Amino acid sequence: MTRRRISILGATGSIGQNTIDLIRRDSKAFDVVALTGASNISQLACDAIDLQAEVAVTAHQDLLPDLKSALAGSDVEAGAGQTAIVEAATRSADWVMSAIVGAAGLAPGLAALEAGTTLALANKESLVCAGGLLLETARKNDACILPVDSEHSAVFQSLVGEDIESVERIIITASGGAFRDWPIEKLAQATPEQAASHPNWSMGQRITIDSASMFNKALELIETKEFFGVSSDQIEAVVHPESLIHAFVGFRDGALMAHVGPHDMRHAIGFALNWPKRKQLPVERLDLAAIGQLNFRVPDEKRWPALRLARDVMDRGGLSGAVFNAAKECALDGFIDGRIGFPKMAEVVEEVLNSINPSHIDAKMTLDNVEQADHVARHAARALIEKRAG
Ligand code: NAD
Ligand code: MG
Repeated sequence: MTRRRISILGATGSIGQNTIDLIRRDSKAFDVVALTGASNISQLACDAIDLQAEVAVTAHQDLLPDLKSALAGSDVEAGAGQTAIVEAATRSADWVMSAIVGAAGLAPGLAALEAGTTLALANKESLVCAGGLLLETARKNDACILPVDSEHSAVFQSLVGEDIESVERIIITASGGAFRDWPIEKLAQATPEQAASHPNWSMGQRITIDSASMFNKALELIETKEFFGVSSDQIEAVVHPESLIHAFVGFRDGALMAHVGPHDMRHAIGFALNWPKRKQLPVERLDLAAIGQLNFRVPDEKRWPALRLARDVMDRGGLSGAVFNAAKECALDGFIDGRIGFPKMAEVVEEVLNSINPSHIDAKMTLDNVEQADHVARHAARALIEKRAG
């Protein structure tokens, strides 16, 4: 069996560590080329030495001496800074995991595609900010993008052997997050600690708060449109408190295919890692009789205005996704820092979307213009948050 050369961008995070777990369990199948991280130097160095990676890179230039000393005595090269991450992403590999969080994941993912490498894409912000650019780069370089977000992996798996033309609708599920049963009037008093406690599983603070506000689902609706190329009126979200069905694909003959599985990201990661084969994965096998029943509800857009904003972004197109994502990241910072209340996050994002000069949204989709739209939106969002907090 030929060993596959793989790299993990964002190796120290939740998705990165789950990817490493799968690689360790099947170590004869892979050679690790590059691992990247940010401030968790000991984790990065430890994994790079253990997996005999060629190179380990931290996003922070000032942490290079720490990384070098943590790697001392090993054969692993050390690198630092965004340019070094992009360089790591383009080292000869068969498969690259894009699991950096936020818009910082876009440039390295694009670089991997330019090198013709298969990109396993967990970094949903890349598709939201620059879906067209990412897909075009993949097409031009004969590279493949495999979705890792669980809903999109579920849709992708439901589409194997199907014709996208026969798809009538795509429904992605949402847990509803921490506040799905709170009275709407109480949301203004919600604290970051309350928003960061997920009813079904444990994730990082930011993505958990994004689940409570449904900004995470809003990003995923946009991601669905960009990746599968369907129109916004073919895409829906449904609240499914058990979170065992990840997505449905409805076909024009009325058939509805559901992807059912445990909430364990190693399923979607493992599917992308082994694609087009399926290998055994260490995930729970569901006992349907013990589960008993599954429930679904229409998401209330008064409770979760982020869903309405996502529809607006899908209809506007252009660089509005980059504006939306940047404004959302700033609004989330404002909520976490106690400067704005929970419902104000959506108000800030909506105001930024409406106030931004259309020239930024209509600009050609290049990496520079995406970064410019991101920059302008962050500036506008921070100014609004200052005004509201003051
Ligand atoms: P995380 O915060 O746990 O890890 C993020 C990784 O990115 C870390 O390795 C960190 O060192 C690195 N990083 C952070 N800032 C960076 C920067 N500026 N430059 C370079 N590297 C940087 O995040 P996560 O939960 O693993 O999520 C990663 C991506 O996958 C996100 O886009 C998220 O939306 C998506 N995703 C996550 C899950 C999940 O269950 N955790 C599910 C679906 C999709
Ligand atoms: Mg998801």
